[in-house]
This record gives sequence, C-alpha cells and structure tokens, in this order.
Amino acid sequence: MNLRTVIESILLKYPLFYMSIYLLKFDVCFHLCCDKSDKPPVTLSCDKCRLYIEYKCDMNFDITTDPHTRIDILTGERILVSPHRSKRPWQGQVEKHSADSRPAHDPTCYLCPGNHRAEGDVNPGYTDSFVFVNDYAALLDTGDKQAAAEDNLFIATPERGICKVICFSPRHDLTLAEMDISALIKVVDVWQDEFRALSTTEWIKYIQIFENKGAMMGCSNPHPHGQIWAQSGIPSSIEREGQRQQDYYQRHGQTMLNAYLTAEKERGERLIVENESHVALVPFWAKWPFETMIISKREVQTILEFTAEEKRDLAAILRDLTVRYDNLFETSFPYSAGMHQAPVNSGNQRGWHWHMHFYPPLLRSATVKKFMVGYEMLADAQRDITPEVAAERLQQASDVHYKRKG
Ligand code: ZN
Repeated sequence: MNLRTVIESILLKYPLFYMSIYLLKFDVCFHLCCDKSDKPPVTLSCDKCRLYIEYKCDMNFDITTDPHTRIDILTGERILVSPHRSKRPWQGQVEKHSADSRPAHDPTCYLCPGNHRAEGDVNPGYTDSFVFVNDYAALLDTGDKQAAAEDNLFIATPERGICKVICFSPRHDLTLAEMDISALIKVVDVWQDEFRALSTTEWIKYIQIFENKGAMMGCSNPHPHGQIWAQSGIPSSIEREGQRQQDYYQRHGQTMLNAYLTAEKERGERLIVENESHVALVPFWAKWPFETMIISKREVQTILEFTAEEKRDLAAILRDLTVRYDNLFETSFPYSAGMHQAPVNSGNQRGWHWHMHFYPPLLRSATVKKFMVGYEMLADAQRDITPEVAAERLQQASDVHYKRKG
C-alpha cells in the first residue's frame, strides 16, 4: 500500500469528503473537498511504508442545503446558489400547455417550403434543410470600413458580418426533439458545411451557431430553425472563455473541459446522458434552472474537426437531451442554445474545446419562467434548485418523447 492507494481508498470510501490528512512521517497536511460532515474520524496506517494517516471531517458547510457561491470556470463569473429556498419536495404536478397542434405546412409561415418571405423572395421546395441570408440581418457585409480615430470615452468600431437562417426541416410542426435521427444528422452536416464555407473568408473571425426556441425566448416563428452569425470581431463571452481555456491549457497540458469532463464522469451526479463522442450534463455552475452543456469527449476546437461518427453522435445526444427537456413539463421546452467554438482566422487557439450551451428559462412548469432580474441584473446570477437536483430530474425524464407515447 503506497500513499497514492491509501488516498484513493479514502476517496472511494468517502467521495467528496473534506479531509485533513496528516502524514506524520513527512509532516504534511492535505485538505480535500467534501460534501458530507457526518463521518467519524478514521485512522489508516501501513507498516510497510510507515505511513500513518488520520482523517476526519472538519467541514460544517453542506452544499446541498447551505447558501453558497459557485464559479463558472469558463467565464470566472459567480453564481449564488440558495438550496434552502427550494427544500419543499416536488409535488409532481405540473401545468401543461394546451396541446400544440401546428399544421405540417403553414401557408402564412415565411420559412415553410414554397412560401414567400417578407422581402419577396420565394423559398424553394426544400426537402431536408434550407439556408438563406437573413432578410433582417443584425450584421451586414458592409465591406472594410474604417472608424475615425478612437476616443477613449466613446469607443465604437465597425462590425462586419453575415447572418444566415437555417430551417431544420420542411415540416412546420416539428422541433429538433421530434425530428428523426437521420434528419438531425443532416442538420449537423449543414452546420459543419456552413462553418467550413464561412471560415474560408479571411475577415470572418468568429461564427456563432445557435437556436432560439419558443415564444418565451422571443422567437417569432415556431417553424424549426436556427441561425448562424459570422462576424469580423470576437464576442466578449468568447474572448473570456478563450482566455481562461488557454490559461488552463498552458498550465496543465490538457483542455479545461477535458479535465472537467473526467472529474464529472467520476462523480456522475450531474451527468444526463453520454455516448461514444459526447456527454450532456448540468454544469456545476449552471445559472438557469435546467441549464445544460454538451461537451465533446475529444479535444476539438470547432465542428470542422468532427468525424462522421462524432456528427452522428452529436445528432443522437441533441435528440436525447431535447426529448428529456420536452418530457420534463410535457411541453415543447423553450431555450436558447448554441455552440461555443474557437475563433477562426485568428491564429493559434490551443485550449479551446468545442461545447454547446443550453439556456432554458422554465423553472417548475410549462408556464413558470425564471426571471434574471433584481440581484441578478445588478450583482450575480442566483438559483434555488441546485444543479444536482436539476440533473436528477433530467436523468429521470424519459428518452421517449411524450407525444410518441400515445
Ligand atoms: Zn461556452
């Protein structure tokens, strides 16, 4: 028995236990983190290597009941968690939305095949997915404009970009959660194709692929669709996540999310679903009640590096996660979701690890939404239900869509 196996055996027996380990021989003290305080002190000794370890729990802080803050390792932001406020057991009863009965084709929808869009263009009779430049784009390809000399109190720089819309399906009445896996694989293919094509343009530095789903998120059209914005600047959240990931990589020689994934897999409590290439989990620092992330198991910087198998697995995990979301409150679950990936045409991006964030607003039923107001607008994000409880509910949600259960 060596020091390593002793410590490992302790950790196995008392996972996440706060321990003071005194190595008498070396006069060294270790402090490890834990979440249980009811364990008695334990002594372990080994005659062979003359090791003597005594450990006991010094902690009286309980992460499952006490107010505390957590840190988002990607952004460095704090999240205030107040589990004592959501102690009431779940009643199980949830308000359901009235059955959503959209037609497969809506003649008034500007995204359905064959229909006219607002600016007069006519959509083709597409059968899989369809991509077009947004008629009301937030960014424009204005050419290379130069700003006047910078004033350090009034700072403005030109932003050049291209905004595209991607219809996921010709069917007006479907969502990612309700589409067949073969159709979802085609959506992932289009994301990769669009990313590849846009990244060949030298002035494009960042490409944001995202979906805004549901009226609650301000989405104006229920036809299943997402967006791709490509731009000449790097958004601040990407810069922040990139900097922290790069710092971690330089210190540890592996990506931060790779290390995080390994640690989460050992603990298991926040994992929702996993396949060969991807993991879906509730991040330790989740701000929104049912916020999740999909993280690729391989250290890849962008969707460009995904193999055919990894794309198929991404489609599968997207479907599984969105089905669980819909089943949670038996409603078409609203969210804003999108990939975070390395900037393009911007030099070495070592440390960047592809991932996807899901930010759903629902709190405890199809109609009760969480608002980020007050303290959250002025100080930090705050939540009551812990990420662990949210993960448990998503783990327990069925992976068969409630509409298919009949
Ligand atoms: Zn991110």
